[in-house]
Order: sequence, then C-alpha cells, then structure tokens
Amino acid sequence: MQPTVAPLEKYQTFCFTCSPEVACFNACCRNLNQVLTPYDVLCLKQFLKMSSGDFLNRYTEESTGPGTGLPVVSLRFSNADNLACPFVTDAGCRVYAARPASCRTYPLARGVSRNRETGRLTEHWALIREPHCLGFEDGHRQTVDGWADDQQIAAHNHMNDNMLELISLKNRFRPGPLMPSEIKRIYTALYDLDAFRDDPFYSEGNVSTTADTLSLGRSGTGDLDLLRVAMDWVRKNLLTRSPGKT
Ligand code: SF4
Ligand code: SF4
Repeated sequence: MQPTVAPLEKYQTFCFTCSPEVACFNACCRNLNQVLTPYDVLCLKQFLKMSSGDFLNRYTEESTGPGTGLPVVSLRFSNADNLACPFVTDAGCRVYAARPASCRTYPLARGVSRNRETGRLTEHWALIREPHCLGFEDGHRQTVDGWADDQQIAAHNHMNDNMLELISLKNRFRPGPLMPSEIKRIYTALYDLDAFRDDPFYSEGNVSTTADTLSLGRSGTGDLDLLRVAMDWVRKNLLTRSPGKT
C-alpha cells in the first residue's frame, strides 16, 4: 500500500494518537531523510548541551540542495542499527522536548505560500497516512490547530518560515550553484552558530550589515537572537554582494 496525502484545513479534524502503547511504536524513527532546519539544530544542540560544531560533527551530514544550491543538514542515521535515528531508544525519542519540527508535525505536513504583492504567508496542511503507522486506529479526534498547539510547533514554524524566505530569495536573486566558499559561510552562519559567533570574519567589516547587528553578533547574545542575526547576514550577503566575495 502506498502512503496517501490528503489536504486539510486548520479547522478540520483527524483521528490520531501516538503513544508507547501502539504496536508500531518507534517504527517511524528509522530510514528517513530527516532534514534539519537551522532552528532544529539550535534546539537540539541546546537540549544536548553541546556546541553547534560538536553536534553537527556527531549527529549530522551535510549536502548541497540540488534545487537551491544551499547547504542542507540531515540527521545521520545508523547503518549499523537498521538506519535508526541517533535519538531513538526503546523508551522513545530521547530528545523529545527538542525534536525537529517535522517530527512534531507528523502525521501532518505543513507548507506555506507567499503572496508576492503583500508578502502574506498562507499555510497549507495535509494529512499523511503511511501503511506502517497504526496511530489512526482508535485515534483521538482533534483539529489541525489543536494538534499544532499540542505539539508546540508555532515557534518552529515561525523560524522555519524565515528560512523558507531565505530559500525563496536565493532562488529569485541568486539562481544556480553558489561558490564553495559561499556555501561554507552560509553553513556556518545558519547551522554552526557557535562558530558564527566566534568567527571574526562575520563581524570585521567583511559583510554588509548594520552596526547594531554586528555588536549583537559579537556580544554573548542568546542563540535565538544570534540565529536571527545570522539569517540577516545570509539575506544581505546573498542579495547585496556580488558572487564570490565571501
Ligand atoms: S528526532 Fe526523535 S522523533 Fe524524530 S526521528 Fe529521531 S527519535 Fe524519532
Ligand atoms: S508509526 Fe505512527 S503511531 Fe507508530 S510511532 Fe510512528 S507516529 Fe506513532
């Protein structure tokens, strides 16, 4: 049987419950292409009390998006353990409080479209039914909105929408491949926040950004503010600088 994907409005309901009692518990936490957003990486490295560099080295692999040309970070699944997620245990997800947005959202999927004239975002939701997932049997009935609230997805969606905007700007203003040095700078800024904070390159006149932004990036600012600074750096660097100057 193939998975099915059915569009849902936010007020519409679906029946679903995932718990250790379902026979398929943990079945979905293996053999995935689990792409992490910059905000996912931030939450996970904070939860695990690791530096961003240590987290990335230990748990992820990097590639270049074939469509976007931007760096992509994915969880490294274990070949030795039937392609298990590095965070799955017999008792469930050991990073549950900091799990990535896509894990929170499943069995729903969320997309956004942006009105070019007003810039307004419109959310689109869909329900994914995969044959191995038994959570629909005897599931609890809830609305899409209720599920999003329960899973505390809002902060993730907000930051991930900012990332989608960057991808959209990249496609619009810098279509095609980036220079390897640009990819490395963007990777560091978006994913390796602790290196971004410490690297003098980003705060010594090499980038077009505001003085306030630079001082925020240099001081011991919080990770979330720093990620906003980093996204701003990427936005300005991608859009205002000629290729090959990073
Ligand atoms: S992060 Fe947690 S919920 Fe997501 S795939 Fe890994 S174990 Fe499963
Ligand atoms: S397959 Fe579905 S019901 Fe089973 S653990 Fe994963 S999300 Fe929960």
